[in-house]
Amino acid sequence: MTNSAKPRVVVLGANFAGLGAAQKIREYCGDTVDITMIDRKSYLLFIPNLPAVVFENEDPALHLRMDIFETVSGTNINFIKAEILGLDVERKEVSFQPNERVGTETVGMRYDYLVIAVGARLAYDRIEGFGEYGDTVSDIYHSNRLRNYLFSDQYQGGPIAIGSARFHQGNGAEGLEPYPGGSIPYAEAACEGPPLEGMLSMATWLKNHGRGGPDKITVFTPGKVIAEDAGLKVVHQLLDVASNMGFHYMNETQDIKRITREGIEFTSGKSIEAELKIIFPDWVAVDFLRGLPISDNMGFVITDLLMRNPKYPEVFACGDAAAVTVPKLGAIGHQECAIVGKQIAKDLGRLQAQDADQPLQPVTYCIGDMGNNQAFYIRSNSWFGGPEQVLKIGHIPYLLKMQYKNLFFKGKGIMPEWGLDFSQLVAEKIFA
Ligand SMILES: Cc1cc2nc3c(=O)[nH]c(=O)nc-3n(C[C@H](O)[C@H](O)[C@H](O)COP(=O)(O)OP(=O)(O)OC[C@H]3O[C@@H](n4cnc5c(N)ncnc54)[C@H](O)[C@@H]3O)c2cc1C
Repeated sequence: MTNSAKPRVVVLGANFAGLGAAQKIREYCGDTVDITMIDRKSYLLFIPNLPAVVFENEDPALHLRMDIFETVSGTNINFIKAEILGLDVERKEVSFQPNERVGTETVGMRYDYLVIAVGARLAYDRIEGFGEYGDTVSDIYHSNRLRNYLFSDQYQGGPIAIGSARFHQGNGAEGLEPYPGGSIPYAEAACEGPPLEGMLSMATWLKNHGRGGPDKITVFTPGKVIAEDAGLKVVHQLLDVASNMGFHYMNETQDIKRITREGIEFTSGKSIEAELKIIFPDWVAVDFLRGLPISDNMGFVITDLLMRNPKYPEVFACGDAAAVTVPKLGAIGHQECAIVGKQIAKDLGRLQAQDADQPLQPVTYCIGDMGNNQAFYIRSNSWFGGPEQVLKIGHIPYLLKMQYKNLFFKGKGIMPEWGLDFSQLVAEKIFA
């Protein structure tokens, strides 16, 4: 135990998974634990809505940030703004450097429980030519750069390519069986909702600005089919809709070799000519996790389906940093946060095993903006061995997407228990 009277829980990361886990631990453990959360930035960025604000010409810095100090005030969750430098799982110690001012000393902090929720490093720096010729929508800087390109008349009207580099998944989820007979499969792209969303919203933008339509856009994937995690029935429905609209589609590109002014070259030997290239890179593990005894061969944290490391049971992971989170979806991280909260509560005698030991059954849950107040809604678990594959397209999914963000900000990250169930009911039963 640490010196404090209560067990100390240290949560690394304060975006969706970190904040969600800290809040769930507080909910299930009450005041029996001290919680400290560490992140290099002091705001949560609502990443899933970045494409939507770009195409609406809104600044994500103003619309999609939630202040973490304010969020945790009154919750008894301690927040430290610092760069996490390393982790010693034998000594149960995290080292970090507060980063408000440069020149700060390195601090070591002991833990009784550790939750790793530091996401992944989006490796744009591994794509030759990305800095000069690539665009994306996964952070504030790149989103505003693309917004500027589109809305200040820099776009010349040429072809557009949207898609992913290859994801190098580790072996940390091998052998897990989330549904009877199922598995955590190997994904060839980390997260393919954003390319689908990007292509549909981009087409609407082209049309609304008199610059063309879907036939200018090629969507590509390293895999056999795009967004395989949504289930083959759903993907084929989506691809039928897209090809009827006039989109071009290229699969099995293997990986991006380089981006040039003229377009994208793939390791498969294929290429696409494009003026605008909107790219999603490889999601790689953050540096300090690589080579640790809790990490898999690519640096993602190994857990069982109760989000606990098998060798170091006081270590948990959730969100994109966990090996089991495939594809890298916030919605799966959300399910994992509740499991972590319940497991720690069980250890502390606050929850019975039968209530806490409900293993992860991942669900791909994605609502993608299509522009003009339309969106697609996917809910599927078939890729993992479950029976469900649902696709809906229309105005209601769009309203749900926007409402989800509003509810999230209003509740400071705490979603009502009925939130997702209600969305499911509305999208699939009432208005479908
Ligand atoms: C364009 C786009 C659209 C998306 N749309 C959807 C969607 O519709 N639905 C969905 O479910 N998912 C979506 N996703 C995926 C979703 O954004 C991620 O799965 C989610 O953000 C993962 O949450 P996380 O907390 O695990 O990681 P992150 O959100 O990446 O947060 C990790 C945190 O850890 C901090 N951190 C990392 N390393 C350090 C360090 N060394 N020191 C200090 N702090 C550190 C970071 O600052 C960050 O705050 C989308 C992703 C993109 C890029």
